[in-house]
Order: sequence, then structure tokens, then C-alpha cells
Amino acid sequence: MFWSAFLAAGIALIAAELLLSLDSRRIWPALILAALTSSMAALLAAFFVSRPVDRRIAQMREFAEGLLEAPDLSVGAGVMDELTALDRTLRRMAAQARVLVNRAKLESNRSEAILTSMAEGVLAVDDQLRVTFCNLAFTRLAGTRMPSSGTPLMELVRDPSLHETLHEVISTGQSAKRHLQIQASSRSFELQAAPLLSEEKSGAIAILHDITDLERLENVRKDFVANVSHEFRTPLAAIAGYAETLLDGALEDQNNNRRFLEIIRSNANRLNNIAADLLTLSELQSGSGSANDEQVPVADAIESALSTIASEAALRNVMLERGPMENLLVSGSRYRMEQALVNLLANAVKFNRPGGQVRVETRRKNGHISILVSDTGGGIPSSDLPRIFERFYRVDKARSRQVGGTGLGLSIVRHIVERMNGNVSATSQLGKGSVFTITLPLT
Ligand code: ADP
Repeated sequence: MFWSAFLAAGIALIAAELLLSLDSRRIWPALILAALTSSMAALLAAFFVSRPVDRRIAQMREFAEGLLEAPDLSVGAGVMDELTALDRTLRRMAAQARVLVNRAKLESNRSEAILTSMAEGVLAVDDQLRVTFCNLAFTRLAGTRMPSSGTPLMELVRDPSLHETLHEVISTGQSAKRHLQIQASSRSFELQAAPLLSEEKSGAIAILHDITDLERLENVRKDFVANVSHEFRTPLAAIAGYAETLLDGALEDQNNNRRFLEIIRSNANRLNNIAADLLTLSELQSGSGSANDEQVPVADAIESALSTIASEAALRNVMLERGPMENLLVSGSRYRMEQALVNLLANAVKFNRPGGQVRVETRRKNGHISILVSDTGGGIPSSDLPRIFERFYRVDKARSRQVGGTGLGLSIVRHIVERMNGNVSATSQLGKGSVFTITLPLT
């Protein structure tokens, strides 16, 4: 700027002098004067014009330096002009911006991976309750599709309690925790909602934690405790009642005293059986007890179980029949396997008719062996069939008690078989009999 101003001013002055006087003697002083005046003018022009520009460049550079993580103190120390310093600063800024963008991308990928793989449903809404974000788990838990950004929450989840909670959180700015049931997916949730405050817009974020299974387990536990108390109460009441009767004078009643004592004994036995079955179940559920790594020959285990049940079958006049059997090996505990077979055979005998039969056979298929126990008893109604493997479930309570059942036998069978990686199922025809099938993988 200085040199162009100098040149322009010089040319202008020379031209003026030449116009004023064409006297050659006065040309040199005129030229010298023109040079001096024009440099002064150029200096002044350069000073007034370039100073604010320089100042602004310096301000821009200082601003850019301020954005950098570690400002370079050597820049702007007078060793280079302002434009070079600015150029250098901007180049460093570009490099740092690239690093920052990459870091932000990495963070965003990481957050996305966490949100996608989370079991908890995450939902974010704006102050108009429009969805701004939700993860895959949320759509699954709420039984809905993946919404596009801005979809009203009402279109996604019809449940009013979720709306109410989020609305309350946005208007009060306070976090909230609720128990929630979403009808569309028939599941229960613990909902935690917190306000999302940003400079532009407020909103809320909700986290849904599926507690359906926890609740179900809690109910199962409560039912179990209630069932156990109930099961114990009946025989205990009988024992206490008959003991009382005997003490009140029936001890001397020669016609009844033995009968009363036998009732007491049979109820005490019943309590004993329930306690033993409960212990077995708890051992099976906790995974403790007998090891599961024996090689068990199936036909041998069936023979042992048949001999255990033989006297009971004879007593009830039920024939035990053997169908085709293969002595193949399965892995598990021999003791537990026999226990499962005894439970099935005992039921087949207990719920049979006098003169009926119980038949056992094995079938091999696709690396598995099935053990079939069929009887000629009264059968099980199809409405009860899906529930007979539950603890304490009995089709005919009176009949089960009368034959000394605890209602835990089939539940024990199921646990034993599942621990051996197998399964148990039942089919039945009313009035004709039932078939229980245990299927186990061959070793
Ligand atoms: P329980 O101790 O009463 O035998 P289980 O768990 O072994 O308990 O059996 C549950 C119920 O299933 C029994 O009470 C009975 O009503 C029914 N059940 C089991 N096996 C048979 C069968 N072979 N024939 C008819 N009913 C059966």
C-alpha cells in the first residue's frame, strides 16, 4: 500500500510540476520535492489505511489463537507480519479442528453403540412431547416401530402414564420415577425420567427398565411361600387335632385310638415327604447335590426304578410291562435319573385303575433317546395338562392326597431332566390313560 501510494502521489506531483513550468532548470528540484511530498503523503496514507487493517488482522489472529488448545506464543511476537502469523494460526486451527471432528465422531459412534446394545429402553422427547431420539430396545419394549424424528409420542405409545410423567418432568424440571405397564407389549417397567435442559429447547429423557421377569419371579416366590404354608397346615392341623382328641379321652377308646394314631402317623409321613421333596427341588434349583457328569445306562436305570416301584404296583394290582428298550448312555446323575423315573412310574401306578397296566419303553431318534411311560389310568383333562409340571399343581387334590402325593413329583422330574439338557412332556386321553415322555441327548 505504501509503495503504490508513493508511486501514485509521485506521478501526480510530477505531472503537476511539469504542467506548471516547463523550465528544465526547475525540473530536478521539482522532482526532489515531488519525491519527498509523495513519500510523506504515501506514508500518511499507508499509516491511516493499513493500521486499522493490521489491527483487525491481529485481532482475528488473537481470536483464532484463543480457540486453539495450546496457543503458540512465538506467533505475533514481531518476527513475521500479521498475515503470515494469521495464516500459520489458521493452519494449526484446521489441524486441531480435524482432530476434534474425529474425536467427536468416535464419541458419537461409541454412544450409539452403547445405546443400541443397551437392554434398557431410552427415549428423548422435546417440550411438545415429540420424539427426538429412541433406541432399538425402547421400540422392542414398547412394542412399537422405529419412529422418525419429530413423531408425536402419542402416535408411538398410547399409554397415558408415560405421557403424564414426561409432561410433569418437563413442566416441573424435576426427575421422576414410576412403575409403568405398557399394554401393547404387556410388560411392566420401572420408568426413570429426567428433564433435558438445553439453551434452545427443553425436553425430557426417559429410561425404561423391564421388570416383568423380576415381578413374575417375585409372584412365583410369594405363591410358593403361600403354597408351602398351605401344604404344611393341613397335615399339621390333622396331627394337632387327633392328638388333642386322644388326650381328651380317646386314648381309652379301644375302638378308635389306633385309628387316630395311624392318622397322626400318616400325616407326619406326609409332612416328611413334602419336606424331602422341597429339599430335592431346592437342591436341583441351586445346582448343588449330585454331580451331573456320570454316564448313565438308560435301561439299567429303568430296571432299578421298576424294582423300586414293584411292591407298590403289586399292592394296587397294576401290571408293570417292559416294551423294547436300548441300554444307551446319557450323561447326568444316575441317582437323579432314577428318581425322575420312579416319580413317573409312581404316578402311573397311583393314578391307575386296579388291574391296569404301566408300560415302559425307549425309542432312539436323531442323537436322542426317549423314555415313554404309559398307563391305563383315568387320564388328565387337556386344560390341566400344561400345568401339571408346576409345583403343587394337582388335577384332583383329594385323590392326590389320598394316594400320598405332594404335588411336587412332576416338578422334580422336570428339573432333573432339564439339568440333563433334556425335556419332559405328557399326552393324555381321558378315561384311557396318559403317556409321559422324557427325551435326553445321547452321549
Ligand atoms: P402328586 O404328588 O400329586 O402326584 P405330581 O407333581 O407328581 O404330584 O403330579 C401332579 C398331578 O398330575 C397329580 O396330582 C395328578 O393329578 C396328575 N398326574 C400326574 N401323573 C398322572 C398320571 N399318570 N395319570 C393321571 N394324572 C396324573
